[in-house]
Amino acid sequence: VFKNVEMAPPIQVFQLTKMYNECSNENKVNLGVGAYRTDEGKPWVLPVVREAESQMAADLTLNHEYLPVAGMPDFRTSATKILLGTNHAAISENRTESFQALGGTGALRLAAAFLGNVLGFKVVYVSNPTWGNHKGIFKSAGFSIKEYRYWDNANRSLDFSGMMEDLSNAPENAVVILHGVAHNPTGVDPTPDQWKTICQTCIDKKLFVLIDCAYQGFASGDLDQDAFASRYFADQRMDMFVAQSFSKNFGLYNERTGNLVVVTKDASKLPEIRSQMEIQIRVIWSNPPNHGARIVATVLNNKAYYEQWKGDILTMANRIKKMRQELYDALRDMSTPGNWSHITKQIGMFSYTGLSEEQVELMKTKYNIYLLSSGRISMCGITSKNVAYVAKAIDAAVRA
Ligand code: PLP
Repeated sequence: VFKNVEMAPPIQVFQLTKMYNECSNENKVNLGVGAYRTDEGKPWVLPVVREAESQMAADLTLNHEYLPVAGMPDFRTSATKILLGTNHAAISENRTESFQALGGTGALRLAAAFLGNVLGFKVVYVSNPTWGNHKGIFKSAGFSIKEYRYWDNANRSLDFSGMMEDLSNAPENAVVILHGVAHNPTGVDPTPDQWKTICQTCIDKKLFVLIDCAYQGFASGDLDQDAFASRYFADQRMDMFVAQSFSKNFGLYNERTGNLVVVTKDASKLPEIRSQMEIQIRVIWSNPPNHGARIVATVLNNKAYYEQWKGDILTMANRIKKMRQELYDALRDMSTPGNWSHITKQIGMFSYTGLSEEQVELMKTKYNIYLLSSGRISMCGITSKNVAYVAKAIDAAVRA
């Protein structure tokens, strides 16, 4: 039965981690995986998460019953509030609904199921480049995938006019995935004014907006500032989805904690939307897991924990910014050919270095520094100890 099953291509980012783990060079560096690391290169459980977990462990009223199909109510409402802001009109006018999902990936997959199965949408536009999984998620839900221009390689910045041209030419009822903050992989976001133009084009052209918000807090360290795009679109009273992930800003990578937020023009169709969304959930994961959602709900509903969490986010965002500066300074000090100012200008977890595939290969084989072939590096993999080594390898690769 299985004799014709062919080997699928490896998932690059996990392949890199495998190569890194198997490498015996003590200077090796993993710049592939998008997960926060301390300055010692270690995974970090946020202190506020540890506290919430201790509180949960001591609470003998908690149990392991199934959660509702739509997920934990406290989690869903508090997650929506940090996205849109507690006083947002969409919340006070009851024009939102949300559905707990298996991480940001699950929220996107659920969105795709609803948009395809219930609304009959068939085409999705993603940025070129985008997070590798967007295409796969929507392809597996039966969508055909189109790209809009995003990255201007010559200037290492946003190709805004190309993006607008492509969105303007998209057919009605196409779904458009926009990265809400800290674009992955480029680390380049539209300015507030550009966001306004993008939003107006989506409205004028009747495009369905799905914002992928996987990094709230990671770009600026400020939850409100990083929610600008999501809130601006929601302000326009349009029908839209936002896929939220708590993998990064809570460090809950393996707990699969996400939320699909629905914002509507008017509340009257929410009961139907809810019922159809629950049918989609029922056949994919039936009901979501508890632990991560309980942590998020516990933190967001406790003033002291919430403040502590904001401090933890700042710790992560500031360390990343510091590493951007140190990497830039090291390249400048070596007069590495090229302009590297994009390293400090780009935001969030990643930097799109502009290194070519050959240069990436040289860094891998000669220096045991593992990064995606696109030249994307996770800034989290850089530490005070290895930054000089990484800079030296980039310098050598560029001069080779
Ligand atoms: N969207 C983007 C742009 C991402 O970079 C990621 C994770 O890397 C996700 C969604 C998915 O996050 P999660 O791990 O919560 O599924």
